[in-house]
Amino acid sequence: MKTGTLYIVPTPIGNLNDITLRALEVLRSVDVIAAEDTRHSGVLLNHFGIESTLWAVHEHNERQKSEAIIQRIQEGQSIALISDAGTPLISDPGYPLVNACRNAGVPVVALPGACAAITALSASGLPTDRFLFCGFLSPKQQARLTALQALEDETATLVFYEAPRRILDTLAAVSEALGPERYVVIGREITKQFETYLTGTVTEVQEKVAADTNQQRGEMVLMIAGAPANEHNIPAEALQLLNLLKSEVPPKKAAKLVASHYNLRANDLYKHII
Ligand code: SAM
Repeated sequence: MKTGTLYIVPTPIGNLNDITLRALEVLRSVDVIAAEDTRHSGVLLNHFGIESTLWAVHEHNERQKSEAIIQRIQEGQSIALISDAGTPLISDPGYPLVNACRNAGVPVVALPGACAAITALSASGLPTDRFLFCGFLSPKQQARLTALQALEDETATLVFYEAPRRILDTLAAVSEALGPERYVVIGREITKQFETYLTGTVTEVQEKVAADTNQQRGEMVLMIAGAPANEHNIPAEALQLLNLLKSEVPPKKAAKLVASHYNLRANDLYKHII
């Protein structure tokens, strides 16, 4: 018997016109649409006149539902997985299902489409050759700070999803962990009526967000410039000490102190600072 396929289908992150022709074709043709929230997706599917059967598959039941989905696909049916918005599995349910499908040898086809992280990054003006998608930071203050501190020397552009009610606390944590001068970009309400991009140092963006309560509403992607490249392969501990010292003493002095402590070239450390 011919097996079916699991399709991963992105849906719009705001502007309904961002659904692709292929997504509509697949959603119309499948036997079942597995949706994170059937009521929420029902509105979208209604809008496009799609009447395929809906199943609720969310983070609390997807492990159990995976078995039933795989069985249906092995029987020849095709199933589309959608989330509330954007690309399923990207800070959304779907990983256990896709993993189980791959382990069972069930065909998985992903359609390209809307994703807030990629859309925001492409408009940010930050380097896109290397980026690290970090999803949501912890809502707990200490865990959030520790996670950011661990990224201090990461040179790739950092991309986070953040809730509007936490943005000011998160910017304060970014300032503490990565320094107030680190360049950040917030992409907000992307593809929607009040789409905005705020850019500047952490301090500048903190001021802009604090001064305008609209900037504390809606959906947002926080992007942070990576740490300066470590061209001279300076060991992580030396960099940490250098980062501490450079705010206390002049750059030349900081470079000299760290160089003598770690037996490194002061000139390399100085170039790194500036
Ligand atoms: N799977 C989705 C995707 O592909 O982008 C992300 C789902 S995650 C649960 C929702 C988060 O994505 C929001 O809290 C926000 O950080 C970000 N997001 C979603 N839509 C957005 C938009 N239109 N503008 C800015 N950020 C958005």
